Amino acid sequence: MKVLVAVKRVVDYKVQIRVKSDNSGVETQNVKMSVNPPDENAIEEAVKLKEQGLVNETVAVTIGDDKSQDVLRTSMAMGIDRSILVKTSISLEPLAVAKTLAKIIEKENPDLVLLGKQAIDDDSNQTGQILSALLNWPQGCFISELKIEDKKLFISREIDEGIEKLETSIPAVLTCDLRLNTPRFASLPNIMKAKKKPLDVIEIDTLGIDIESKIKVLNVVEPPKREAGIMVNDVKELVQKLKYEAKVI
Ligand code: AMP
Repeated sequence: MKVLVAVKRVVDYKVQIRVKSDNSGVETQNVKMSVNPPDENAIEEAVKLKEQGLVNETVAVTIGDDKSQDVLRTSMAMGIDRSILVKTSISLEPLAVAKTLAKIIEKENPDLVLLGKQAIDDDSNQTGQILSALLNWPQGCFISELKIEDKKLFISREIDEGIEKLETSIPAVLTCDLRLNTPRFASLPNIMKAKKKPLDVIEIDTLGIDIESKIKVLNVVEPPKREAGIMVNDVKELVQKLKYEAKVI
């Protein structure tokens, strides 16, 4: 069984986001970039499946510019066998990412595709779902548990009413929740070993797909600054303030 993991390079979750002075987007110059957090869970799950002997090959794919090689090296330092950079200087929206991944899947023929449930930069939460529709494969979204038995997938996913349990077959597209596992740290020896693992580069233009944006970002602004809070002496005062000053109850 072969697993393909989609990994996105995003502004590190600990960085205080700054909006560009022309309001065209978020500043990414001279900012720490990292693997999108739920994608680390996808990597961890793929590596665990290989360690359990259920999978024999793990491949990471990212779509981005040359700098995105760093997230692939991190993925390989965590245990992924090899990786593919689909090179583009344009930041793609989920439909274009899914179309690109579908092309790579056509070439690589994996049994399972793992993605993060959501990219923390665009918060789209769409790529896995679109990909499963393009491939006409079953999908499991926001999975927090995965078991594989006799080529059947048993998935748990958190929903409003509790934990939903699903069964499906391979090939499938799964998007990973942060509860799925605890991603391992890449050790120094593994970081060194990852430098020698194969990393193929494919120019996006060679895939013959339409990646033109269907959505135009008009303006990006920072959220209004929160006003300082106040301390109240008791519940009565709190209720008064909520009722007559904030007028929320
Ligand atoms: P989104 O639909 O943008 O919230 O992204 C969901 C997931 O799709 C991410 O967690 C990644 O696994 C994958 N993904 C999104 N953009 C990319 C990209 N440029 N390269 C590789 N994977 C991506």
